[in-house]
Amino acid sequence: MNKESANSLTRRIVIGMIAGIILGTIFQAMLPEDGDLLIPLGLFDFAVRGFFVDGLFEIGGQIFITSLKMLVVPLVFISLICGTCSLTDTSKLGRIGGRAIGLYLMTTAIAITIAIAAALLISPGDGVNMTADVTFATKEAPSLTQVIIGMFPSNPFDAFAKGNMLQIIVFALLFGIAIALAGEAGERIAKTFEDFNEVIMRLVVILMNLAPYGVFCLMTTLFTELSLATFGNLIVYFMVVLAVLLLHAFLTYPIILKLLTGLNPVTFIKKMRTTALFAFSTASSNATIPSTLNTTTKKLGVNNSIASFTVPLGATINMDGTAIMQGVATVFIAQVFNVDLSVTDFLMVIVTATLASIGTAGVPGVGLIMLAMVLAQVGLPVEGIGLIIGVDRLLDMVRTAVNVTGDSMVTVVVGKAEGQFDQSVFNSSDDTNGDRIDFHHLKD
Ligand code: ASP
Repeated sequence: MNKESANSLTRRIVIGMIAGIILGTIFQAMLPEDGDLLIPLGLFDFAVRGFFVDGLFEIGGQIFITSLKMLVVPLVFISLICGTCSLTDTSKLGRIGGRAIGLYLMTTAIAITIAIAAALLISPGDGVNMTADVTFATKEAPSLTQVIIGMFPSNPFDAFAKGNMLQIIVFALLFGIAIALAGEAGERIAKTFEDFNEVIMRLVVILMNLAPYGVFCLMTTLFTELSLATFGNLIVYFMVVLAVLLLHAFLTYPIILKLLTGLNPVTFIKKMRTTALFAFSTASSNATIPSTLNTTTKKLGVNNSIASFTVPLGATINMDGTAIMQGVATVFIAQVFNVDLSVTDFLMVIVTATLASIGTAGVPGVGLIMLAMVLAQVGLPVEGIGLIIGVDRLLDMVRTAVNVTGDSMVTVVVGKAEGQFDQSVFNSSDDTNGDRIDFHHLKD
């Protein structure tokens, strides 16, 4: 396969994204704020917003996201069962879990510390005079005890139906261990799950190949509705969050990867492109799981026995990008409301933001709900969220890309440490492995 066609999925997604941004910007300029543009066509008037933005593109974008989400529960369940029962020594599970969770918590704490330091240095909220016009309901941060008990499903089908990732992970791990212990019957059922896994991974690749169209639709609707007027006072806040997000993705992760594995961080970043684009356009680590699993196993060379566990776990408990937004937002809101935060308050922010990320799923906008918990914890007005909501959607997209990059980096580190890693796949120059639909099996 030549390089050009090999690069095609990433390239096609980028083209879809840019085309969507351009078309959305044109619609934004053409359409009145709360109305439609009617073009008289003889017998009837043709409504541009009604037909394209709220019709065609809305349908296309939502079907794309929904079909990615459709894959998540069966994919995580099946691949995790395959992963667990292929681990010859199931006692290794504890060590793998410990390593992954330790790294996830460590990277989140680093992320939020850098964010708070940057925000204190640049003071994005000084001199800003704004009033919050949006009210936001606070939810209390769940206690660690609640989070741990809540990981165990009383009814696995309820967990599937609700897409409760931690409960699905626990059930799949237990089921996988039981398969490994069940002798001949276990071997038969393991074989069946491997076949299921093969089939569902094909479905992942098919849907991934539809991404350019889905991304085009999503970007068109987003940029038609995006109001740039909200940026005014928030531009410094926006730039600080963006800068720390980029710093974390392009500096912190490469350094950790190099230090812990000796692998080439440039190769890692390059191979993350497609998955980062998925995360950026869906703003959901959860919906990106199929692509993250595909990249970590087929392009980065981590064995499915590790990736099937660490990827869905990371999508749920590891949100470094979100923590960065929370760090900067807390300082920003404190400055706007003229509240002085003490060192203890900042430590509180770090702990609450890290713990809040454990119990919340990676879906669009969830970062703001977590921020409400953090603000309440240090006594800042939760209405402060109303100040930053206007620019949050774009930041959500970038921070989700950072979140999944973090999940993948930790997956590589754990895979390498456990010897479940194929360095030749990681080093191979074909960074599109796993993106292509293989039609060989189709008969005429
Ligand atoms: N959208 C983010 C994610 O799915 C969470 C957030 O920051 O709102 O990872």
